[in-house]
Amino acid sequence: MHPDSRIYVAGHRGLVGSAIVRSLQRAGFTNIITATHKDCDLTEQQAVRDFMAERKPDYIFMAAARVGGILANASRPADFIRDNLAMQTNIIHEAWRSGVTKFLFLGSSCIYPKFAPQPMKEEHLLTGGLEPTNEWYAIAKIAGIKMCQAYRRQHGFDAISLMPTNLYGPGDNFDLESSHVVPALLRKFHEAKLDGAPSVTVWGSGSPRREFLHVDDMADASLHLMQHYTGEDIVNVGVGKDMTIRELAECIRDTVGYSGDITFDTSRPDGTPQKLLDTTRLTALGWTPTRTLRQGLAETYQWYLSTEDRRM
Ligand code: GDP
Repeated sequence: MHPDSRIYVAGHRGLVGSAIVRSLQRAGFTNIITATHKDCDLTEQQAVRDFMAERKPDYIFMAAARVGGILANASRPADFIRDNLAMQTNIIHEAWRSGVTKFLFLGSSCIYPKFAPQPMKEEHLLTGGLEPTNEWYAIAKIAGIKMCQAYRRQHGFDAISLMPTNLYGPGDNFDLESSHVVPALLRKFHEAKLDGAPSVTVWGSGSPRREFLHVDDMADASLHLMQHYTGEDIVNVGVGKDMTIRELAECIRDTVGYSGDITFDTSRPDGTPQKLLDTTRLTALGWTPTRTLRQGLAETYQWYLSTEDRRM
């Protein structure tokens, strides 16, 4: 990519898309193309075709997707499978058709088989049944990866796919019903501190293990691989280390500066006991994350406080 290459970030308002825009700006790229849903509805093929003809991107980061937690997936399976299939099919096909130089697609660690061995290696994809609550999303994402591979084989289209682990960071969703654990706990500890509450309740037993990657690291990895990797093999993007939810909760308590207790509500589900990516391939491609969890949590907490100021 050259400093003035035309780079389209689809989904630039989302957690990952906004981080990719920040990362491109930091790296000195000046020709970043974005479009709101109103400018270009990615589920409409003609709209995507017109958009490509008019804006002529050279590189595309596909960070647009319908995403959500367990509740959203379970209650709107049709939206999850249809919108994701439609958006990615349109954008991959029209990108190839209009001569885009290189394309980057994002899968997710949650599309590996439910009982994949840990840490999960890239070759474990499609070796077992999926987690039933998000299979709608997973099937669509797997189709996207396969489509990138098929367009590479048949048309020589340079499309690569990455598999991010659990992400967190500025721009995250802090709604307690639909958020993931990091923003949920930052908010719970913050509110407990303000209210002087004696304890904070964390869901589950505290023993499940998860891996957490700062979204700006994910974005930096995306830029690195866009520039230095080509091939049909998917690439895991993670930190290669995990921690228990109890350890995470203690870290977040320190970040927020809350002095009360932590209790565990075992009537809430633990989910899968461990989710950890094997990052051997990523490391061999010359990239490792730079942000520590403590720094990342502090930064995300500051971002949350700034949005709170805006709400008041
Ligand atoms: P998962 O990685 O797909 O299971 O997604 P989550 O980030 O939602 O949950 C990770 C783990 O954190 C699970 O074991 C949850 O039970 C646990 N957890 C503890 N407290 C919370 C909370 O307040 N919100 C969420 N979402 N998860 C929590």
